[in-house]
Amino acid sequence: MEFLATSLLELIVQTSTNLPPDVRAAMSLAANAETPGTQSSQALDIILSNIDMANQDEGPICQDTGMPTFIVHTPVGVNQIRIKQAICEAVAEATRLGKLRPNSVDSLTGKNSGNNLGEETPVAHFEQWEEDEIEIKLMLKGGGCENKNIQYSVPCNLDHLGRADRNLEGVRKCILHAVWQAQGQGCAPGALGVCIGSDRAHGYELAKEQLFRILDDVNPNPTLAALEAEVMEAANELGVGAMGFGGKSSLIGCKIRAANRLPASFFVSVAYECWAFRRLGVRLDAATGAITRWLYRDPARVAERVARGEGFPLTGREVILTPPLTEAQMRALKVGDVVLISGEMFTGRDNVHAWLMKNPPPVDLNGAALYHCGPVMLKEAGEWRVKAAGPTTSIREEPYQADVIRRYGVRAVIGKGGMGTKTLEALKACGAVYLNGIGGAAQYYARTVEKVLGVHLMEFGIPEAMWHIRVRNFAAIVTMDAHGNSLHADVERASGEALESVAAGPHA
Ligand code: SF4
Repeated sequence: MEFLATSLLELIVQTSTNLPPDVRAAMSLAANAETPGTQSSQALDIILSNIDMANQDEGPICQDTGMPTFIVHTPVGVNQIRIKQAICEAVAEATRLGKLRPNSVDSLTGKNSGNNLGEETPVAHFEQWEEDEIEIKLMLKGGGCENKNIQYSVPCNLDHLGRADRNLEGVRKCILHAVWQAQGQGCAPGALGVCIGSDRAHGYELAKEQLFRILDDVNPNPTLAALEAEVMEAANELGVGAMGFGGKSSLIGCKIRAANRLPASFFVSVAYECWAFRRLGVRLDAATGAITRWLYRDPARVAERVARGEGFPLTGREVILTPPLTEAQMRALKVGDVVLISGEMFTGRDNVHAWLMKNPPPVDLNGAALYHCGPVMLKEAGEWRVKAAGPTTSIREEPYQADVIRRYGVRAVIGKGGMGTKTLEALKACGAVYLNGIGGAAQYYARTVEKVLGVHLMEFGIPEAMWHIRVRNFAAIVTMDAHGNSLHADVERASGEALESVAAGPHA
């Protein structure tokens, strides 16, 4: 097995940096379906550019490289323990090289292991099979979309949809509800893996497994094929849109399977995958571990460029912001404005926000732009370099954000997916704004960072530390302003109404 280590490292690097062709094609279609000039269309332009940038420079497509999940099939007699060891070594090496973010956190102490190894990480499932080769599939599914997975126990009552019964109509309602409840927080347009039936734990596992299907395949079960098609059509009428900005492209795939269940249980388990749908696979020679062929991609074919034109088109109407920001500047902004930030900002996410509740900030946050971001950072020649730095899901900071704004004078909060009413009230009271970056556009945003000026609270680990960075032309959209307006609340309301009307579909 002299080639096993290099084969596994190549699998991880390609999965993290090179989106599979079926996903690229679906994202291009989604972008072309969108109305030019809308916020969703602008978001998709950044996403498409980001896909190309990641491929060109072999950088992580998204800074959240997720929970590495390997599905391994081996011929009878192959040593699976040896493969598990090699997977762990390759994961640690890919982390050292900055292709994976250190994402493994001890759930009791909160300590990040720094190399993606720890209790039950990475995840590896092994099966034997009758074939001669080894097959290893890998999925990197980030936390933002993982948090939007949802499981329904039918019969149940759903917002905007009423009762979901134990039949196909009930299942369809659950799946559409899953798209609606994700809004932009899972980095829409997303894809769904669904399992109808099974038990709670296995249902989720089978739902995730559906995400290994190719996006444009057709379900061999005609009933499920029809349901998949129906969901796709109805979901794209909800108006959630890319990043939850409203628009036509909310879903790029829906893959459903059914499994037998207990008479007393009827679960519909939904795995929500973001647009940064990273999954690849390899076949390996069982004697040497060398790659004999790739799954999902043809390495002989150069990945086609997906970006349209110059990527994110500037109109000249963008508002230039240079922190420190003033109350008057923030009150002049309104929902829908596009801003370009040049100057200094600080990152801060879950640990930083919890820490700020009990401790003063290590830096002056008066007039600051606070970026919800857990970057991939590498130290090169004694200096920190940003390898990937897109926004993380902001709603997790809802319990803290209003206090942070009020206490420390933060003027702009940058993240993705929007925040709730408590934060909106603080924005209004203090004169601050919420700026939505484009989730997953980690390479695009990494290129806006001119310099890492410093780091604080490093004891929280790289993703959770407070990074002090200087950026240039960092693009974001005002989605919550100081006048009490929230694009997120508006889209959630409008898509909820749309959900009520699409619910009256063929199975209704
Ligand atoms: S694209 Fe969004 S949801 Fe997906 S891993 Fe990145 S930040 Fe998380």
